[in-house]
Amino acid sequence: MQTLRTLEALEREGLVAIDPRLTEAAQSMAIAITPEMLGLIDRSDPNDPIARQFVPSVAETEVAPEELADPIGDEARSPVKGIVHRYPDRVLLKPIHVCPVYCRFCFRREKVGPGGEALSAAELEAAITYIRAHPAIWEVILTGGDPLMLAPRRLGELIAALDAIEHVAVIRLHSRVPIVDPDRVTGELVSALKPPRAALWLGVHCNHARELAPSTRAALGRLADAGIPLLGQTVLLAGVNDTVETLEQLMRALVTARVKPYYLHHPDLVRGTGHFRVSIARGQELMRALRSRLSGLAQPTYVLDVPGGHGKVPVGPGYLGGYLGDDPDALLVRDAFGEMHRYPG
Ligand code: SF4
Repeated sequence: MQTLRTLEALEREGLVAIDPRLTEAAQSMAIAITPEMLGLIDRSDPNDPIARQFVPSVAETEVAPEELADPIGDEARSPVKGIVHRYPDRVLLKPIHVCPVYCRFCFRREKVGPGGEALSAAELEAAITYIRAHPAIWEVILTGGDPLMLAPRRLGELIAALDAIEHVAVIRLHSRVPIVDPDRVTGELVSALKPPRAALWLGVHCNHARELAPSTRAALGRLADAGIPLLGQTVLLAGVNDTVETLEQLMRALVTARVKPYYLHHPDLVRGTGHFRVSIARGQELMRALRSRLSGLAQPTYVLDVPGGHGKVPVGPGYLGGYLGDDPDALLVRDAFGEMHRYPG
């Protein structure tokens, strides 16, 4: 079974009925659904949360005025092609723009895809030269696209080049590959992820507990057994994971797969993705409920990327309720179950 890449292929699988509006939606972004993800789709459920992430929808043709082509402002912070330098101590490096799947809500949906710009050898060298010339850069985050789509040999060479820069202490990769295409996590790939000097962390993007099928858990196990620390990144998505039960199952599943939940991303203002967005108030409500159900190990931080390239901030909920009127030195603190308590200080 091959990755499905066209509307016609999706129609043959009974996942869509092609019409002109769906064709228009599909043209706004590449299609890719791996055999692993296809196998998880429940065809009897018209609201299947796996299908919803990858199958084009006519809702993508509806673009709201506040939605942006570059919602997190990558372009505004890019001094050299392939580099985004938002904070003094870290950069994003985007060597490749292809992915194993194409997520319809993607924050870089207008950049990723087979026609997207991968860095040429000269451009990659210029990006590495930029990192070498900036001693304040402590961490390099390989993203894209999906950096694990590089052949293991090329990925190993890139990681070795970064490892050779003394001030780069941490190399972090963000990937969907172990979740959606676990057979790509071969021994050769795992070996490429072991630089001799720098610490390497791997963030995996996973939005639903069903994505952690046995083959995916095995791939994560191969990475964890090799000593690679794993972080979970989840996008909060209407109709996919916007209930406390779904998020709870996902966070528990990640921890048992040896992945530490790291971020729960508020969905970005991406063009044509209003059908995936929930309010921040709803996100805070879900986080409050998770706090009462899950240990700290299973808690992600709920974050929002400030449009315009201003970076990520945690968006709550807060647990401090202000000062008591009769005692200006005592704070009110809300516990995980919503009860208020006095805290001296
Ligand atoms: S794998 Fe990541 S970069 Fe690629 S389409 Fe999905 S969200 Fe976007």
